[in-house]
Amino acid sequence: MKKLILLGSTGSIGTQALAVVRQNGWQVTALAAGSNVDLLERQAREFRPKIVAVFEESAAADLKIRLADTSVTVLSGIDGVCEAAASDGDLVLNAIVGIAGLRPTLAALSAGKTLALANKETMVTGGEIVNRLAAEKKVPILPVDSEHSAIFQSLQGVPEGALHRILLTASGGPFYGKTRAELCTVTAEQALKHPNWSMGAKITVDSATLMNKGLEVIEAVHLFHVSPEQITVLVHRQSILHSGIELTDGAVLAQLGTPDMRLPIQYALTYPERGPVNGERLDLFRVGKLTFEQPDTDTFRCLPICIDAIRRGGLFPTAVNGANEEAVRLFLAGKITFLQIADLVEAAMDVVDQTAELSVENIFETDRAARRLVLEKSK
Ligand code: NDP
Repeated sequence: MKKLILLGSTGSIGTQALAVVRQNGWQVTALAAGSNVDLLERQAREFRPKIVAVFEESAAADLKIRLADTSVTVLSGIDGVCEAAASDGDLVLNAIVGIAGLRPTLAALSAGKTLALANKETMVTGGEIVNRLAAEKKVPILPVDSEHSAIFQSLQGVPEGALHRILLTASGGPFYGKTRAELCTVTAEQALKHPNWSMGAKITVDSATLMNKGLEVIEAVHLFHVSPEQITVLVHRQSILHSGIELTDGAVLAQLGTPDMRLPIQYALTYPERGPVNGERLDLFRVGKLTFEQPDTDTFRCLPICIDAIRRGGLFPTAVNGANEEAVRLFLAGKITFLQIADLVEAAMDVVDQTAELSVENIFETDRAARRLVLEKSK
């Protein structure tokens, strides 16, 4: 029986992962989240992990009291989350949102755990460091993001050197087809209505700005060791073809399925085995048509900005990521407009110290600088 450590258990990916765990009867040895103690308490009582880590200290203190009648150890702060990531278990699923997931990723890899990775910000900010550590510890990184899972699945059995390019699909989000003039007045409520996927608030806004696709380009560069030029983004409104690859001989391989995150989650947790289907099977007759278009990069500028950031490399992806996290927070709070997000993300490129080496300390320093810049510019 697999022993799973689940970070970000209270979120969209976390709760869907627990649905997969329930179906497969696996054991959960540790849970971690930010502050949602109501749900953490219910999850702890149902799954009986040895450890529950809560990032926020006061929430951890509250949970400790609530779980006093159980044998669960409650840990707190980033150190607690990292301790949970490195604790007894075979596989860590990191479903924390944002750069907050980077240190727990490094803790899991340092402890030699196989990593199922949903937290794309980990690869965006620390990709090179993460890859180096995973290679040193000889542990695999299994992608959970549906696009990267599709690429990973398509790559199974493909000989080394045969990959020509990656075909990364994008739904286009809720504002597909809109002009910049129309986007001037869109609200957070409208941005949160994704046409095909039900996800956490941050990634849903990222899908609306196409920042999510930009982050995924950067993630794919690191996960699959390709150049940004080897990645083609296609807008595919139906979200059925989850991404694919083109090989040197011109063959195109792709993975198709219903838009249901439990599929890639389950594949990462059962890899290299296949588990039973846990939702509807894909009915291609009902889908009928699959369409592919070029993304509108003049309107949705976060995508080309991210591509520029990964071409420049080093700390540039961290700067755009940090600025975006802060800008999305301000947009959701009604403090900035939708179009300002891309302006702020682009401006954050200026905070990068190009002489600084890529280290964990400098990643967090750049992240803080990018956030400060966003706060100053949005006053
Ligand atoms: P949610 O916002 O729904 O959940 C985020 C999770 O992270 C929650 O459990 C939250 O805890 C936890 N968390 C936040 N901050 C911290 C912290 N400092 N320490 C520990 N835990 C923390 O996000 P999603 O599930 O949508 O996304 C998670 C990750 O997966 C993101 O990186 C996203 O890009 C990626 N992803 C998501 C997809 C989806 O379908 N949702 C698809 C593909 C990728 P709390 O609830 O207590 O705040």
